[in-house]
Amino acid sequence: MYYLITLVVYGAVDVIACLGLSLQFGIGGVTNFGYIIFQAAGAYAAAILSLPPDSANGGFQRYIGGFNLPFPLPWVGAAAAGAVIALPFTFLVGRRLRGDFAAIGLLVTAVLLNLLVMNFVPLFNGDAGLAIVPAPLQSQVMTDTSVSYQWEFAIGVVVLAAAVFWFIRHITESPYGRTLRAMRDNDKVADSLGKNLLSLRTGILVVGGAVAGLSGGILVTFVSVWSPAGWTYAETIVLFAAVIIGGRGNHAGAVLGAVLVPVGFEESTRLITDANPSLPPNLLPSLQWVAIGLLIAVFLWFRPAGILPERRRLIALPARPAAPVQARDRPEAVPEAVPDGTPAGPPVTVPSGPAGAAGAAGAQPGDIVLQATGVSREFGGVHAVSGVTLSVTRGTLTGLIGPNGAGKSTLLALLAGTQRVSAGTIRYQGQDVTNVPAFRRARLGLVRTFQLASEFKRLTVLENLLSAAPGNRGAGFFGAVAGRRYWRQDEAAAIAKAGDILHRFGLESLANSYAGDLSGGQRRLVEIMRALMTDPRMLLLDEPMAGVHPELAQRIGDLLVGLCRDGMTILMVEHELAIMDEFCNPVIVMAEGSVLAQGTMAQLRDRAEVVEAYLVG
Ligand code: ADP
Ligand code: MG
Repeated sequence: MYYLITLVVYGAVDVIACLGLSLQFGIGGVTNFGYIIFQAAGAYAAAILSLPPDSANGGFQRYIGGFNLPFPLPWVGAAAAGAVIALPFTFLVGRRLRGDFAAIGLLVTAVLLNLLVMNFVPLFNGDAGLAIVPAPLQSQVMTDTSVSYQWEFAIGVVVLAAAVFWFIRHITESPYGRTLRAMRDNDKVADSLGKNLLSLRTGILVVGGAVAGLSGGILVTFVSVWSPAGWTYAETIVLFAAVIIGGRGNHAGAVLGAVLVPVGFEESTRLITDANPSLPPNLLPSLQWVAIGLLIAVFLWFRPAGILPERRRLIALPARPAAPVQARDRPEAVPEAVPDGTPAGPPVTVPSGPAGAAGAAGAQPGDIVLQATGVSREFGGVHAVSGVTLSVTRGTLTGLIGPNGAGKSTLLALLAGTQRVSAGTIRYQGQDVTNVPAFRRARLGLVRTFQLASEFKRLTVLENLLSAAPGNRGAGFFGAVAGRRYWRQDEAAAIAKAGDILHRFGLESLANSYAGDLSGGQRRLVEIMRALMTDPRMLLLDEPMAGVHPELAQRIGDLLVGLCRDGMTILMVEHELAIMDEFCNPVIVMAEGSVLAQGTMAQLRDRAEVVEAYLVG
């Protein structure tokens, strides 16, 4: 009987721990190999909060505090400790460090802390850990070892696990959760769309840390001992195995994994040991590690999404009036291409000069929107961009052309803030943004796309668009906690706006498809639509038509021209001269990191050095 109770409590503790990891790793994409630290910290906090001062039991063990606090304060303290301990780690997973480095950093920290705890007796009683940690309400319940008390404990913990599940799900199924999943799928892109990676990662590190701490607190008050040997980094691997096998990005999967992996392994070990008492005592625990490693490998190979894969989140678009679509309802819709490739729709006029397009309300056409002065960027010894000075005028579709390796993509990254300049200044709408991080530039309306496919793969097309919508009250942690009623209106507005954009691009039928399943051309469109969701003032597009069917390229070009006519400013990298001819004016030519020339395509064709650089390069 007692064994069954122990199993239930362990199961619930593992479920809670796996839920925290499921949020961090499955939803937020943070590979926290130091997860066990937070559980151990919570456990230690619960122990010293519920124990009397260390002199009470004849001083046989040493620890700080000893606050003798009543239940449930030790558990609350455990969660708080897990959350507080998480804060210093945010510098590891923040904005700059790549995910794999962060994972190693956390792993190393976990090992170091374990060594510290094992060897620093005054604080943690060293290797021996802490013993006789009081159980919750032990003093109030006379028969503390009675079966009914144990059952109550077990049921209480299961209820708590259910509450944690509800809470984690609650914040995951919100605009905030969607933002986390976008960051998981491609953090650089999320950054370029105005998402503050540092604050997003801090949020899930702290929430996951609190959940881990709580699970540790529960465990330590149940088993009544806290031993550093029980919190080695290897335990983290068990939890990762549970989340991967159960299903990344699906909290129900994490629950299933928590029951299958840690509990299942304990169970099977016990059964085998009981049946074969002559086995060497260390054999099975060692084999366990082999088995867990193999299981992870097998799952990653054959069923990477886990037993319960992440669900696709279907969102209904608001119904549109069924009236026949008139030409003016879809001004940017695909003009039917006639065989020679010219659009059959209304003729598209390329702006005749920098001032040729109409400006947005309040802004004068002809203003300089973006200005780079002496901008350089080196990688080691490579001068990818050196001393570029250029300006982009409002309402133009400015082309940026040059041979491969000319530095076009790097320049775009510098202008958008994805990379920092080595020298030079960048001004956007009169403001010096040289040191403004990418997500803030995006919030100012300066939004880029990427040369390589950069859709959020495991978000639907509609979710890709929604994730970029600015100003959704549910997109922050506290908004998500406040619940659907708090953000429903913003969400509905974003869905309506996304519906309009999808309609304009004729892609409504793909709204609920995974973006990762689309064709290359469709994915380019998703990226452009997603950028438009941010209400940009200026777009920086990196080869939006590369690898796209010519008909679709034509359609994208017409769309961009239409946007500029409505006051948008676009700087577009492209290396097809034909596309520049058709859509862009002026055109800037880059070669070997520098600007070679600028002008209309006709002017550029007359300049020998341009033709030479382009054709030879
Ligand atoms: P383009 O987009 O015009 O083809 P890029 O901007 O991608 O050119 O690259 C310009 C030069 O900078 C190339 O020589 C490239 O190898 C180098 N480069 C670009 N990014 C990096 C990087 N992250 N590290 C090192 N070298 C880079
Ligand atoms: Mg490039």
